[in-house]
Amino acid sequence: MEKWTNLLLDWYSRNRRQLPFRENPTPYRVWISEIMAQQTRIEAMLPYYERFMEKAPALCDLAAMEEEELMKLWQGLGYYSRARNLRKAAICCMEQYGGELPQTVEELKKLPGIGDYTAGAIASIACHQKAAAIDGNVLRVFSRLYCIEGDVRSRENLAKIRDLVDQALPEAEECGSFNQALMDLGAMVCTPKSPDCEHCPLQEHCQAKAQNRQAELPQKAAKKPRTIVEKPVMVAVWKNPETGTWKIRVHRRPARGLLAGMMEFPESMPADDTVELCMDLGEYVHVFTHREWHMKGTLIFVKEPAEDFVDLEELESRLPLPSAFAPFYQRTREIVDGK
Ligand code: SF4
Repeated sequence: MEKWTNLLLDWYSRNRRQLPFRENPTPYRVWISEIMAQQTRIEAMLPYYERFMEKAPALCDLAAMEEEELMKLWQGLGYYSRARNLRKAAICCMEQYGGELPQTVEELKKLPGIGDYTAGAIASIACHQKAAAIDGNVLRVFSRLYCIEGDVRSRENLAKIRDLVDQALPEAEECGSFNQALMDLGAMVCTPKSPDCEHCPLQEHCQAKAQNRQAELPQKAAKKPRTIVEKPVMVAVWKNPETGTWKIRVHRRPARGLLAGMMEFPESMPADDTVELCMDLGEYVHVFTHREWHMKGTLIFVKEPAEDFVDLEELESRLPLPSAFAPFYQRTREIVDGK
């Protein structure tokens, strides 16, 4: 343990965030919350977590879920391969681990989609094992605490930080609290911009604070610029004159690659002779990790629906549509619902 470990644990006992997955932190609940929290703010993922737990309260429910249903449940969170891996790992646990998640870091890491961080979080928080859980928050806090120079994600610095975290870990029983304390400290105090050093329990031990270098740490290697993709979005709709209900044209993305297997609005116009009216749906930029879609939407009312039209309600309730298309879908709904 480091001199400051107990200060952090003490701070955590008084300031910890009340989060649903911290009540009754079973391995399954911790696992789902950690996968959801990657790349998503906790406040933003909470409604998804609650909904997920209603539909799949136990690992066996997740293993039994159809992939399409899972994608719909995950809709809006992005990184859909993570959801697929969740399901694959749940099936693996049903087949190989008696319907439970294994309890050690080594066994957890054999499951699809579980790496060092998630394995460490599950093992420490839910299974009271002595394990580190090093994510971006921890890298930031440690790079400041120890004034670590150079790209924080370089192999050398990652190894250095792992050593430092290992030295700071308390006994197994308190490792879960320690890891969660670092998560909370990184989210609430040692934030990326303007860290609140005056309220930090570690301020007496922080080298960055002593040297007034908080703002310049952590250092990061320059990222490659994202690829820009111009993407037309053609939302074609048809109103059934007899029932007053709407159909909408969608197609399924390829089974591999970005947003694999999800639905999308086609880039091409429907056949000329069926187009009745076109409306501008505006522009939207959707940012992925390595690329940006610069999207321009058009709403097209058609006289006849083709085979690739589905009921609007089916898209709403059952088919997974990535959030990249949400602005165009919402505007379309407002128009067809007459708002
Ligand atoms: Fe971060 Fe400031 Fe605390 Fe150092 S003193 S760990 S920079 S919040």
